[in-house]
Amino acid sequence: MKVAIVTGASRGIGRACAVRLAKDGYTVVVNYSRSEEEASKVLDEIKSAGGDGMTYKADVSDLAQVKQMIRDTDRKYGQIDLLVNNAGIVRDAFLLALNMDDLSSCMELNVKGYFYCAQQAALKMFRRRQGVIINMSSVSGELALAGQSVYSATKGAVNSLTRVLAKELGSRGIRVNAVAPGFIETEMINALSDEKKEEYLKDIPLHRFGKAEEVAAVVSMLASDEFSYITGQVITMDGGISL
Ligand code: NAP
Repeated sequence: MKVAIVTGASRGIGRACAVRLAKDGYTVVVNYSRSEEEASKVLDEIKSAGGDGMTYKADVSDLAQVKQMIRDTDRKYGQIDLLVNNAGIVRDAFLLALNMDDLSSCMELNVKGYFYCAQQAALKMFRRRQGVIINMSSVSGELALAGQSVYSATKGAVNSLTRVLAKELGSRGIRVNAVAPGFIETEMINALSDEKKEEYLKDIPLHRFGKAEEVAAVVSMLASDEFSYITGQVITMDGGISL
């Protein structure tokens, strides 16, 4: 039995990753911060497909809550094999209209939250000299979209963090990679106006938005032992928008 923690798994990409990893045989910790009912539905889906796991309420931008989640997971299952650092938010605004509270909350979750979870999970992975960390980045970590300075900066940080941690943790048998999706059909995208969606679609060679399940398939691949020589990579999957 392998154990995976997926942060922000109550919906969207995190939900798809949790369901996919359960199908791959992982016992899955479905983390969420507010959406208890949605997280329970994800766990029900996992269990009705024959999988196992638990929901876990923790704000991953809070170090004490992250420590408790990792401790409780380790106590319950005795090991942590995979961390998917996925919980993230978008706070788009042009620089001159930027609200500093939005800047802080984005940095706290999208950057510091990833550090907190990676550090606490790695402390457990060290013990067994094996583990995989997958960070959910975004094509915005490389692509410059007006209005996304904060989000882009956080995802650029995730890309750098991925590469450095791969170097630091490799000798302990821990692989660290990132997935950088383009526009994926989740609530994050549903919040865009139809006009904005059309504008983005024009720039996507595949002329459609991606599906959360397609992101989960890349996560499943990176987690798999079959791809055990891949570390420190940011895998872009964006329908070609960054070309
Ligand atoms: P989403 O649909 O908005 O879901 C976000 C998830 O994160 C929810 O489960 C939410 O649960 C959880 N969450 C939010 N704040 C949290 C916190 N402080 N602690 C723990 N969980 C928290 O987002 P998504 O579109 O699936 O995006 C997931 C990740 O993919 C993000 O890192 C995002 O940047 C990245 N991404 C998304 C796209 C896209 O097009 N959708 C593209 C590229 C990258 P609660 O409601 O319980 O808080």
